[in-house]
Amino acid sequence: MRIAILALQGAFEEHQKMLDSLGVESFLIRKLSDWQQPKDGLILPGGESTAMLRIMNDEGLLEPIQKEINDGLAVFGTCAGMILLAKEVENDSRNRLATMDITVLRNAYGRQLGSFFVNENFKGIGEVPMTFIRAPYITKAKENVEILSSHDGHIVAARQGKQLAISFHPELNEDRRIHEYFIKMVKGE
Ligand code: GLN
Repeated sequence: MRIAILALQGAFEEHQKMLDSLGVESFLIRKLSDWQQPKDGLILPGGESTAMLRIMNDEGLLEPIQKEINDGLAVFGTCAGMILLAKEVENDSRNRLATMDITVLRNAYGRQLGSFFVNENFKGIGEVPMTFIRAPYITKAKENVEILSSHDGHIVAARQGKQLAISFHPELNEDRRIHEYFIKMVKGE
């Protein structure tokens, strides 16, 4: 199994370390020729969605990635990655991958003081540590979207088929269970 990690900006290295520790091979995507390698899944890291989208457009990555996700490639978006996947963003009208039937609010907890840590229940896993950094949350999800976790009445993790979107940063804690969950999704388990 080989997992692609979008590495234009943000916390991509931490995802790669997490996959290394699970014994899963990965490679970084910076340009179109990187993307054209065979892959079984994709991770979209946290960072700054506006910067990522600008580079994805400049590098001609947006449409090829969008097509493979729509064709069934497993994808895991954390924080800014969730924003890239959302069909609607309440406070941003930029072009994005828009493959998942969710509406999100960017910087939903405030721009500066919006970083915090909680332990919260995640469906099928149990209580997991969650680090939020200027995070979005999901304000609406279609009925084909499964809600996996909520915090303070807001949806912070959801799945639609082989797409997984999470508001927080599981790659910043020692707990590997959410990455394991994604690897099972990739395998179709
Ligand atoms: N606030 C960022 C954005 O809008 C997301 C923050 C993050 O990924 N930690 O893209």
